[in-house]
Amino acid sequence: MSLNVLQNHNLAEYTSWLIGGNADYFCLPSNYDELREALKFAKEKNLKTTILGGGSNVLISDGGIEGLTIGLKKFSGISTDISSDKITLDCLAGTSKSELLKTFLKHQLAPALFLAGLPGDVGGGVVMNAGVAEMFQPREFMELVESIEVMTAEGEVRTLNKSDLKVAYRHTDGWQPHTVVKAKIVWPLQKDPDVLNKVREANKVRLSKQPLDKPSCGSVFKNPEGHKVAQLIDSCGLKGYTVGGAQVSPKHANFIVNLGTATAQDVWSIITHVKATVKEKTGVDIQTEVIRMGRWG
Ligand SMILES: Cc1cc2nc3c(=O)[nH]c(=O)nc-3n(C[C@H](O)[C@H](O)[C@H](O)COP(=O)(O)OP(=O)(O)OC[C@H]3O[C@@H](n4cnc5c(N)ncnc54)[C@H](O)[C@@H]3O)c2cc1C
Repeated sequence: MSLNVLQNHNLAEYTSWLIGGNADYFCLPSNYDELREALKFAKEKNLKTTILGGGSNVLISDGGIEGLTIGLKKFSGISTDISSDKITLDCLAGTSKSELLKTFLKHQLAPALFLAGLPGDVGGGVVMNAGVAEMFQPREFMELVESIEVMTAEGEVRTLNKSDLKVAYRHTDGWQPHTVVKAKIVWPLQKDPDVLNKVREANKVRLSKQPLDKPSCGSVFKNPEGHKVAQLIDSCGLKGYTVGGAQVSPKHANFIVNLGTATAQDVWSIITHVKATVKEKTGVDIQTEVIRMGRWG
């Protein structure tokens, strides 16, 4: 076996919150054959598999993750094809959105503005249908995607067209239970010479509104129909609410930041308290956007 599989490997550094216990087994495949090997390893040992993209939307338990965790950050690369009227980008799932942003910037295309400040990988972008509140075009990741490739647990690669998928707010269905390995992204070649300035401006706005100096997973809760969740949380006086090393950001009420020593349990206690308080004081049920992973009691 050429793939290096580590045992009891800590996962905190693979998450934007810098929180999480150990994976029983962990590997970082960099190509299709290595990913196939990883999936085979899990099947032979009867291990549950967990896929980790950029780790920017997950809360990994302090007790770690059972089975094999497959990190995709080395499974990256973009191949570009340009015709007279469109650009086609074949992106491996572990390609960071910032790499994709650079490609769109190079060609002065509008998706650069959408991608500005969006962390994580292409695979995570597909699965979470990452999106922005601003009325940009595009404003959701799946608007960029024409088709995806998935790998089954047996190592077979299948192509799914967008029409095979069910795309919703911060969620895409129809690819499960497989691993997303590639996305084909297509966009018209309509240049916007001012896009770099717009990206710089968007970054400034994010920096002024979000606590980007502290580890977080971005927005913790989804916006409920007809409401802005940050305003609901703020109206309950929860900014600054702290448990252990985790805190509802005083700058943005929908961010929970790691002050340096936060555990997953600290963050989960805050999430539970915020949910209950918002329900009690405003009557609105709020749901988490962030995905809990691993062993929870
Ligand atoms: C500072 C900050 C700002 C943010 N701003 C935004 C924002 O404006 N809009 C927004 O939508 N999100 C935002 N996010 C959240 C996050 O960046 C997005 O949801 C992102 O798309 C998640 O991608 P990821 O690669 O990090 O996924 P991960 O967090 O690694 O994974 C998320 C889920 O997808 C699954 N997954 C990941 N890759 C694959 C794959 N290849 N195959 C199968 N399953 C997979 C994982 O198992 C997990 O269930 C922000 C996060 C941070 C830290």
